[in-house]
Amino acid sequence: MSITPVLFPDLIQAVIASIEAHADEVTELDQAIGDGDHVFNLQRGLQALRDHAAEIAQLDWHAAWQKIGMTVMAAVGGASGSLYATLFISLAKNTPAQAVDTLGFAEAFLLGVEAVKQRGKAEVGEKTMLDVLVPVAQALRDAAASAKPRTELLEHICHVAETGVEATRDMLATKGRASFLGERSKGHIDAGAKTAQLMIVAIAEVLNTADE
Ligand code: ADP
Ligand code: MG
Repeated sequence: MSITPVLFPDLIQAVIASIEAHADEVTELDQAIGDGDHVFNLQRGLQALRDHAAEIAQLDWHAAWQKIGMTVMAAVGGASGSLYATLFISLAKNTPAQAVDTLGFAEAFLLGVEAVKQRGKAEVGEKTMLDVLVPVAQALRDAAASAKPRTELLEHICHVAETGVEATRDMLATKGRASFLGERSKGHIDAGAKTAQLMIVAIAEVLNTADE
Protein backbone atom coordinates (compact mmCIF):
# COMPACT_ATOMS: atom_id res chain seq x y z
CA MET A 1 0.00 0.00 0.00
CA SER A 2 1.55 3.31 -1.02
CA ILE A 3 -0.41 6.33 0.15
CA THR A 4 0.36 9.93 -0.77
CA PRO A 5 -0.73 13.19 0.93
CA VAL A 6 -3.26 13.61 -1.91
CA LEU A 7 -5.54 11.58 0.38
CA PHE A 8 -5.08 14.01 3.26
CA PRO A 9 -8.26 16.10 2.68
CA ASP A 10 -10.39 12.92 2.70
CA LEU A 11 -8.63 11.60 5.78
CA ILE A 12 -9.06 14.81 7.74
CA GLN A 13 -12.72 15.05 6.72
CA ALA A 14 -13.37 11.50 7.92
CA VAL A 15 -11.65 12.18 11.24
CA ILE A 16 -13.61 15.41 11.75
CA ALA A 17 -16.89 13.59 11.06
CA SER A 18 -16.09 10.81 13.51
CA ILE A 19 -15.04 13.15 16.34
CA GLU A 20 -18.17 15.23 15.69
CA ALA A 21 -20.39 12.14 15.83
CA HIS A 22 -18.89 11.06 19.18
CA ALA A 23 -18.36 14.53 20.67
CA ASP A 24 -20.91 14.20 23.49
CA GLU A 25 -19.71 10.76 24.51
CA VAL A 26 -16.04 11.86 24.63
CA THR A 27 -16.87 15.05 26.49
CA GLU A 28 -18.66 13.00 29.14
CA LEU A 29 -15.57 10.84 29.52
CA ASP A 30 -13.30 13.88 29.84
CA GLN A 31 -15.70 15.53 32.28
CA ALA A 32 -15.64 12.41 34.46
CA ILE A 33 -11.87 12.40 34.99
CA GLY A 34 -10.49 15.46 33.14
CA ASP A 35 -11.58 19.06 32.54
CA GLY A 36 -13.99 18.41 29.66
CA ASP A 37 -12.12 20.32 26.93
CA HIS A 38 -10.57 17.43 25.04
CA VAL A 39 -13.03 17.41 22.12
CA PHE A 40 -12.78 21.18 21.81
CA ASN A 41 -8.96 20.97 21.75
CA LEU A 42 -9.03 18.28 19.06
CA GLN A 43 -11.60 20.11 16.97
CA ARG A 44 -9.48 23.25 16.94
CA GLY A 45 -6.55 21.25 15.63
CA LEU A 46 -8.63 19.40 13.08
CA GLN A 47 -10.22 22.58 11.77
CA ALA A 48 -6.78 24.16 11.35
CA LEU A 49 -5.69 21.06 9.44
CA ARG A 50 -8.79 21.25 7.25
CA ASP A 51 -7.95 24.89 6.46
CA HIS A 52 -4.52 23.75 5.24
CA ALA A 53 -5.63 20.44 3.72
CA ALA A 54 -5.41 21.49 0.06
CA GLU A 55 -1.89 22.81 0.59
CA ILE A 56 -0.80 19.70 2.52
CA ALA A 57 -2.15 17.48 -0.28
CA GLN A 58 0.46 18.99 -2.63
CA LEU A 59 3.45 18.16 -0.42
CA ASP A 60 5.58 15.05 -0.07
CA TRP A 61 5.18 13.11 3.20
CA HIS A 62 8.23 14.63 4.85
CA ALA A 63 7.01 18.20 4.27
CA ALA A 64 3.38 17.21 4.93
CA TRP A 65 4.10 15.78 8.40
CA GLN A 66 6.15 18.87 9.25
CA LYS A 67 3.30 21.16 8.19
CA ILE A 68 0.73 19.00 10.03
CA GLY A 69 2.82 19.06 13.21
CA MET A 70 3.41 22.82 13.14
CA THR A 71 -0.27 23.48 12.40
CA VAL A 72 -1.42 21.35 15.35
CA MET A 73 1.19 22.89 17.64
CA ALA A 74 -0.02 26.42 16.80
CA ALA A 75 -3.75 25.65 16.98
CA VAL A 76 -4.19 23.40 20.01
CA GLY A 77 -3.71 24.02 23.68
CA GLY A 78 -3.92 21.19 26.20
CA ALA A 79 -1.73 18.16 26.70
CA SER A 80 -3.13 16.42 23.65
CA GLY A 81 -2.10 19.24 21.28
CA SER A 82 1.59 19.16 22.10
CA LEU A 83 1.61 15.34 22.21
CA TYR A 84 0.07 14.98 18.73
CA ALA A 85 2.34 17.75 17.40
CA THR A 86 5.30 15.76 18.77
CA LEU A 87 4.04 12.64 16.97
CA PHE A 88 3.72 14.43 13.63
CA ILE A 89 7.04 16.29 13.83
CA SER A 90 8.76 13.02 14.69
CA LEU A 91 7.04 11.45 11.65
CA ALA A 92 8.49 14.29 9.52
CA LYS A 93 11.98 13.57 10.85
CA ASN A 94 11.72 9.86 10.15
CA THR A 95 9.90 9.93 6.80
CA PRO A 96 11.87 10.33 3.58
CA ALA A 97 10.56 12.74 0.94
CA GLN A 98 10.14 9.82 -1.49
CA ALA A 99 7.15 7.50 -1.42
CA VAL A 100 6.98 5.36 1.71
CA ASP A 101 5.47 1.90 1.84
CA THR A 102 3.43 0.51 4.73
CA LEU A 103 6.47 -0.88 6.53
CA GLY A 104 8.34 2.42 6.16
CA PHE A 105 5.37 4.29 7.61
CA ALA A 106 4.97 1.73 10.41
CA GLU A 107 8.60 2.13 11.45
CA ALA A 108 8.34 5.93 11.45
CA PHE A 109 5.08 5.69 13.43
CA LEU A 110 6.73 3.52 16.10
CA LEU A 111 9.45 6.15 16.50
CA GLY A 112 6.78 8.87 16.63
CA VAL A 113 4.93 7.10 19.43
CA GLU A 114 8.25 6.71 21.24
CA ALA A 115 8.71 10.50 20.98
CA VAL A 116 5.23 11.00 22.48
CA LYS A 117 6.17 8.77 25.41
CA GLN A 118 9.29 10.84 26.03
CA ARG A 119 7.49 14.14 25.65
CA GLY A 120 4.74 13.18 28.12
CA LYS A 121 7.05 11.11 30.32
CA ALA A 122 4.45 8.36 30.17
CA GLU A 123 4.27 4.65 29.46
CA VAL A 124 1.60 2.15 28.53
CA GLY A 125 -0.71 1.39 31.46
CA GLU A 126 -1.06 4.98 32.72
CA LYS A 127 -4.54 5.51 31.21
CA THR A 128 -3.71 7.81 28.31
CA MET A 129 -3.80 7.91 24.51
CA LEU A 130 -0.62 5.80 24.67
CA ASP A 131 -2.70 2.78 25.65
CA VAL A 132 -4.07 2.92 22.10
CA LEU A 133 -1.11 4.37 20.20
CA VAL A 134 1.56 1.98 21.50
CA PRO A 135 -0.22 -1.34 20.78
CA VAL A 136 -1.46 0.00 17.44
CA ALA A 137 2.06 1.05 16.42
CA GLN A 138 3.44 -2.37 17.37
CA ALA A 139 0.63 -4.25 15.63
CA LEU A 140 1.03 -2.12 12.51
CA ARG A 141 4.75 -2.79 12.32
CA ASP A 142 4.28 -6.54 12.84
CA ALA A 143 1.46 -6.72 10.27
CA ALA A 144 3.44 -4.69 7.74
CA ALA A 145 6.55 -6.80 8.29
CA SER A 146 4.56 -9.96 7.56
CA ALA A 147 3.00 -8.31 4.48
CA LYS A 148 -0.58 -8.82 5.70
CA PRO A 149 -3.13 -7.86 3.00
CA ARG A 150 -4.50 -4.33 3.38
CA THR A 151 -8.06 -5.07 4.53
CA GLU A 152 -6.87 -7.65 7.04
CA LEU A 153 -4.18 -5.31 8.34
CA LEU A 154 -6.64 -2.44 8.81
CA GLU A 155 -9.20 -4.68 10.55
CA HIS A 156 -6.52 -5.95 12.87
CA ILE A 157 -5.34 -2.42 13.74
CA CYS A 158 -8.91 -1.33 14.51
CA HIS A 159 -9.38 -4.34 16.76
CA VAL A 160 -6.14 -3.60 18.63
CA ALA A 161 -7.23 0.05 19.07
CA GLU A 162 -10.59 -1.05 20.51
CA THR A 163 -8.90 -3.42 22.97
CA GLY A 164 -6.55 -0.60 24.00
CA VAL A 165 -9.42 1.80 24.76
CA GLU A 166 -11.30 -0.77 26.83
CA ALA A 167 -8.17 -1.56 28.82
CA THR A 168 -7.99 2.05 30.08
CA ARG A 169 -11.27 1.62 31.99
CA ASP A 170 -9.76 -0.20 34.95
CA MET A 171 -6.43 1.59 34.92
CA LEU A 172 -5.32 4.05 37.54
CA ALA A 173 -4.41 7.39 35.92
CA THR A 174 -0.91 8.48 36.84
CA LYS A 175 -0.38 11.11 34.10
CA GLY A 176 -2.38 14.16 33.06
CA ARG A 177 -5.30 15.75 34.89
CA ALA A 178 -7.01 12.42 35.61
CA SER A 179 -4.09 11.53 37.90
CA PHE A 180 -5.34 14.19 40.37
CA LEU A 181 -8.28 11.87 41.08
CA GLY A 182 -6.16 8.91 42.15
CA GLU A 183 -8.30 5.79 42.70
CA ARG A 184 -11.42 7.66 41.54
CA SER A 185 -9.99 7.71 38.01
CA LYS A 186 -10.79 3.98 37.82
CA GLY A 187 -14.01 2.90 36.11
CA HIS A 188 -13.90 5.43 33.25
CA ILE A 189 -12.37 5.09 29.80
CA ASP A 190 -9.71 7.71 29.06
CA ALA A 191 -10.98 10.39 26.65
CA GLY A 192 -7.66 10.70 24.83
CA ALA A 193 -7.48 6.94 24.29
CA LYS A 194 -11.04 6.99 22.94
CA THR A 195 -10.36 9.78 20.43
CA ALA A 196 -7.13 8.09 19.30
CA GLN A 197 -9.18 4.97 18.55
CA LEU A 198 -11.92 6.94 16.76
CA MET A 199 -9.34 8.67 14.57
CA ILE A 200 -7.58 5.39 13.74
CA VAL A 201 -10.87 3.74 12.75
CA ALA A 202 -11.87 6.74 10.59
CA ILE A 203 -8.49 6.70 8.83
CA ALA A 204 -8.66 2.93 8.32
CA GLU A 205 -12.07 3.23 6.66
CA VAL A 206 -10.74 5.75 4.14
CA LEU A 207 -7.59 3.73 3.47
CA ASN A 208 -9.58 0.56 2.99
CA THR A 209 -11.47 2.05 0.08
CA ALA A 210 -8.58 4.10 -1.39
CA ASP A 211 -6.92 3.02 -4.65
CA GLU A 212 -3.73 0.99 -4.37
P1 ADP B 1 -5.57 18.60 29.03
O1 ADP B 1 -5.40 17.34 29.82
O2 ADP B 1 -4.38 19.49 29.08
O3 ADP B 1 -6.88 19.29 29.30
P2 ADP B 1 -6.76 17.35 26.70
O4 ADP B 1 -8.03 17.35 27.46
O5 ADP B 1 -6.83 17.87 25.30
O6 ADP B 1 -5.62 18.12 27.47
O7 ADP B 1 -6.19 15.87 26.59
C1 ADP B 1 -6.29 14.96 27.64
C2 ADP B 1 -5.77 13.62 27.16
O8 ADP B 1 -4.38 13.70 26.90
C3 ADP B 1 -5.92 12.54 28.20
O9 ADP B 1 -7.18 11.93 28.10
C4 ADP B 1 -4.78 11.57 27.89
O10 ADP B 1 -5.17 10.58 26.96
C5 ADP B 1 -3.76 12.46 27.21
N1 ADP B 1 -2.61 12.73 28.08
C6 ADP B 1 -2.55 13.57 29.12
N2 ADP B 1 -1.31 13.57 29.66
C7 ADP B 1 -0.58 12.68 28.93
C8 ADP B 1 0.79 12.21 28.95
N3 ADP B 1 1.67 12.68 29.83
N4 ADP B 1 1.17 11.30 28.03
C9 ADP B 1 0.28 10.84 27.11
N5 ADP B 1 -0.99 11.24 27.03
C10 ADP B 1 -1.42 12.14 27.92
MG1 MG C 1 -8.70 18.38 29.03
